[in-house]
Amino acid sequence: MSLLELPHRGKEFIEILEESKALVKKLCGIGDEYEVLWLQGGGKMQFCMIPMNFLTDARTAGYIDSGHWAHEAVEYAHYYGNARILASSKESNYSHLPEWPNMQTDLAYLHVTTNNTIYGTQWHNIPKTEVPLIADMSSDIFSAKTDYSRFSVFYAAVQKNLGAAGLALVVIRKDMLHKSQVVLPAMMSYAMHAREKSVLNTANVFGVYVSLLMLRWIDARGIDAIEKENKRKAALLYDAIDSNGNFSANIKEKAHRSLMNVCFSANTPEVEQAFLALCEKNNITGVKGHRSVGGFRASLYNAVTFEQVEELVGVMNRM
Ligand SMILES: *Cc1c(COP(=O)(O)O)cnc(C)c1O
Repeated sequence: MSLLELPHRGKEFIEILEESKALVKKLCGIGDEYEVLWLQGGGKMQFCMIPMNFLTDARTAGYIDSGHWAHEAVEYAHYYGNARILASSKESNYSHLPEWPNMQTDLAYLHVTTNNTIYGTQWHNIPKTEVPLIADMSSDIFSAKTDYSRFSVFYAAVQKNLGAAGLALVVIRKDMLHKSQVVLPAMMSYAMHAREKSVLNTANVFGVYVSLLMLRWIDARGIDAIEKENKRKAALLYDAIDSNGNFSANIKEKAHRSLMNVCFSANTPEVEQAFLALCEKNNITGVKGHRSVGGFRASLYNAVTFEQVEELVGVMNRM
């Protein structure tokens, strides 16, 4: 029988689940104080589940509004309780990270998006905070060494660095699990998903398996080597943009630049058209920026090689 025919509570699939959870903990350097869950509904379902589970009393949750997804997360939270934007760079169209806020210590949690996929900024150093920290790491999980133990909850829609769409990896420290709301439909409750070990309902068995293959690949390469390669890739591309009179990087502040999503623009519409045509001729696809930003975006996720970035830079330098 193939994986797709096996029962999701059967021994074979449970082994896949267990190996994947153990690898997540190993790669994050965390132990059994955390629960690892594979949940359906991608990233946006987490935008709902977080406030549903953790914003249940009279307290307020803080959100850092550093980009499109960060903003959507707080909009979802408004349905469930008091959610406040504590810092935002929306006014400048998210062209830099906002100033880290001073905050009251009785917040239910602080939500931060570690990498802003569409605008190309990334938090490389998140200041220490007293408040439970919840992070959307959809577009930079396992891309570099991170102290995951600083986060009470972190999650990632898997389709960027960790597998095929249709799943989210959610990692929750158990003390947060005990704080989570219990009077919820089971599908919306982290505590129930934890109790049922990610098979509360029919699991996305194929998605979990693909993510297991990715985790094995990440583990075999090692996060250190992946980080080194990601830094080399990003440096090569940003240098090419900064030194080419035809292009400009969207993010001027170098310390805010994302290693994963490099966003840039052509300096004239003629260059934009010519560059897109040259890319197409050279079999480079998907460099058009997100429809809400325009320009170009090169996403340098773990699976993209240094040689592929060299090819893109080669085409830029022919402009
Ligand atoms: C892609 C992305 C999401 C949305 O994920 P879906 O699975 O499409 O819901 C959320 N947050 C970030 C940071 C993303 O990059």
